[in-house]
Amino acid sequence: MNPPGDERPLAQLFVDEFTRAGVESRLIETPSPGGASRVGRAAAWARVPGTGARAPIVLLSHLDVVPAEGEGWAFDPFSGAVVGGYVVGRGALDAKGVGVVHLLTLLALAERTTPLERDVIFLATPDEETGGQHGAAYLLEHHRDLLGGAEYLLTEGGGILMSEIGAPNIWGVTIAEKAPCWMRLRTEGVGGHASSAGPGGAVPRLVRALARIAEIETPVRVIPEVERMFREMAPLAAPEDRGGFQALSRSLAEESAFRDRFLSSGRRAALVRNTVTLTVIHAGSSTNVVPPEARAEIDSRVLPGESCLAFIESIRQVVDDPEVEIEPKLAFESRTAPADTPLFAAIARVAAELDPGSFVVPRVIAGFTDSHYFRDHGIIAYGFVPRWLPARETRGIHGVNERISVANLDRGVDAMLRILDELDTAEAAAR
Ligand SMILES: [Zn+2]
Repeated sequence: MNPPGDERPLAQLFVDEFTRAGVESRLIETPSPGGASRVGRAAAWARVPGTGARAPIVLLSHLDVVPAEGEGWAFDPFSGAVVGGYVVGRGALDAKGVGVVHLLTLLALAERTTPLERDVIFLATPDEETGGQHGAAYLLEHHRDLLGGAEYLLTEGGGILMSEIGAPNIWGVTIAEKAPCWMRLRTEGVGGHASSAGPGGAVPRLVRALARIAEIETPVRVIPEVERMFREMAPLAAPEDRGGFQALSRSLAEESAFRDRFLSSGRRAALVRNTVTLTVIHAGSSTNVVPPEARAEIDSRVLPGESCLAFIESIRQVVDDPEVEIEPKLAFESRTAPADTPLFAAIARVAAELDPGSFVVPRVIAGFTDSHYFRDHGIIAYGFVPRWLPARETRGIHGVNERISVANLDRGVDAMLRILDELDTAEAAAR
């Protein structure tokens, strides 16, 4: 669970499985800042060598999971219970289940006598759920050689969305993510007894700033990747939305009924504008004490290509109070992976084979994964795990009763092997 982390035993378990099968593997120590983790943190790495004719492909997952507390779990979230053909528990989808599919894929490759051209590298990192600084970022900085100059990477963030109304499934291959632009706000004032407080307290000042921020309506902007994604999904849209999806930016600008419908969905709206969400407020601890300081945090996400610092500056202008400090808490730039690659084409061919009639769509998502660290190093990273999930099942991610069917894990391994084989065959033929 992260926090505190404690990923080391799971990293060891993966390494043990690889070792038992004779696959080259390593446990890599990673830092536990402040000693927060009791049992230690680590990453797991393994490699099935190819002929070396092409650069490696990395299958990336993460070892840490968000906490699983509170009501609603039908089973102990950390028991790994298998119930009615489903593995139930925290991480079944996000992302221990992904690591298992990657593990089994490498074990299957290792049994073959004919190698692929590319090395296939398994990497499972700690610390993804809290931003990856002590996981993916650390590994890229200190152990970059383990990637062997990789060209491609597949990780979470996309998959196969199953239609529940008999429409075609959507194979969503994520090529871009919005970037976090998290902020901290802080105000100071004169503390003292609340019975006789003077003007200018820290709390009223912060509340005034937050009230202004809560009123912000960020402009709608359709980036080319989002325009394309909706255009390709248009045939699957509700009849009244089909025309709007065909030409999203024009429809949002010119058709108010469509615009209202589109923006009323938080999930859709997030793909066409920067978001500003107030999440944390801290001040005072007693009714009769005026606190000398008040703090808040905001989760903003900006569209690919936008600068967080510029966005924070625009927030400062709205707040219009130099006594309110606004600083970035987490920010990085988002990069888009190209969709016109042999790997994307290989995924599309496997989709046509396994799931005839399905749509393969390059997606943009509002959340973020560790992909950006690898894209920063020039690796073509896609969010794609081959598993067939109806929308209701994806709610288990960071929710209750997270689960994945055993059949989905099996199909995932099969699909992953087919994708690697398709890529290999097409590239070998092109030589
Ligand atoms: Zn995840």
